[in-house]
Amino acid sequence: MVRRSFDVSEAVLLYAEAPARVCEACGANLWIRWHVPRFVQRLDGVYQVVRQVKGCPAGCGNKRKYRPYEDVRFVLPG
Ligand SMILES: [Zn+2]
Repeated sequence: MVRRSFDVSEAVLLYAEAPARVCEACGANLWIRWHVPRFVQRLDGVYQVVRQVKGCPAGCGNKRKYRPYEDVRFVLPG
């Protein structure tokens, strides 16, 4: 349980899409595996950043997960 000191009910949703489209090992189209939500408080408001995580569905042995690039101008990674 995360303790928050700010109200997330008015949070603005930001969706970060993973830019990769195909598996670099077998060329299959990547599937969206899960999403990683995160609340961020900034001086101009509260945001819910949802990051997409993609993976190869073909079972080719490529275990790499494809994520959107961290935008450190918006929120520090961590
Ligand atoms: Zn693959």
